[in-house]
Amino acid sequence: MGRVYNFSAGPAVLPEEVLREAAEEMLDYKGSGMSVMEMSHRSKVYDTIIKEAEQDIRDLMRIPDNYKVLFLQGGASQQFAMIPMNLMKHKKAGYIVTGQWAKKAYQEAALYGEAVKLASSEDKVFSYIPDCSDLDIPEDMDYVYICENNTIYGTKFKKLPDTKGHTLVADVSSCFLSEPVDVSKYGVIFGGVQKNVGPAGVVIAIIREDLITEDVLAGTPTMLKFKTHADADSLYNTPPCYGIYICGKVFKWLKNMGGLEAVHQHNIEKAKILYDFLDESSMFKGTVVPEDRSLMNVPFVTGDKDLDAKFVAEASAAGFVNLKGHRSVGGMRASVYNAMPKEGVEKLVAFMREFEANNK
Ligand SMILES: *Cc1c(COP(=O)(O)O)cnc(C)c1O
Repeated sequence: MGRVYNFSAGPAVLPEEVLREAAEEMLDYKGSGMSVMEMSHRSKVYDTIIKEAEQDIRDLMRIPDNYKVLFLQGGASQQFAMIPMNLMKHKKAGYIVTGQWAKKAYQEAALYGEAVKLASSEDKVFSYIPDCSDLDIPEDMDYVYICENNTIYGTKFKKLPDTKGHTLVADVSSCFLSEPVDVSKYGVIFGGVQKNVGPAGVVIAIIREDLITEDVLAGTPTMLKFKTHADADSLYNTPPCYGIYICGKVFKWLKNMGGLEAVHQHNIEKAKILYDFLDESSMFKGTVVPEDRSLMNVPFVTGDKDLDAKFVAEASAAGFVNLKGHRSVGGMRASVYNAMPKEGVEKLVAFMREFEANNK
């Protein structure tokens, strides 16, 4: 079998052009006589790779000069601890709990101080984004935390919460580089790259400089201080070199597509094909309230577990793989990240139409 249409929530589909280029450069990167996997992170050739990657993500997201871009490890989950360790000066932070990843971050923060649940959508299986336009936020909170796109439930903040002047921290793992963002509205934006940007093993954190200080919680390990990595331009220790190199290629691929405005338009078109079908189908139903639907993760159900399983199995046999939904939602989930071609979504919908006709 050749390449499939991979709807995995993560690790997820990457642009085929990027994979081909990486394959071509595998044995001899630009005349260095070695693979990027084999070279010193202190070498001149690698320095160019990481510096270009940083510049390209800065260009794509129009990151202001007073923000650092850090390439870190430990997954997005490690940030659940690094954020309170570095930012909880008054040992109090607000969390908006819109899914399992936000909940995990909230629970982790509670290990370090008082984590206050400002709002939640758990009452309806996280199928919507709560109204965050006028939250009751205590004055002494160090930051307000959100998970901007909820990978498992398929919801997205279309409007950022009013933090009443508090620092906004956002986990953007599953919507990273999927649309333009105004970085200046955030204190910290971070994401594991394996959803929309690159191979697992790299986390990118974009942090406003005034939040990077030595004033961290007592006992914070050197490796978990933002300052350690910021001072060393992400080269304090050996970074995930190969992963950063692939991210860099994806950044160039996004630039070639016309930048995040163009990528966003493309993502809107792709998601619309799927949502329009879900709205007209009498078999398949989306699980999220329409106004909060994610452009990246699209959960849906038939309402019949056996039929769901039959669909997942037949879809997989037809080359549409990883459509099984998360166990907490059931049913199906199609993740349609940047690198999923429009054709993949069109073909999936055609397959769903046919399945519906055959299983009436
Ligand atoms: C996948 C995911 C995580 C966890 O990422 P790891 O890199 O596995 O730690 C956290 N947040 C969101 C929104 C995710 O989608």
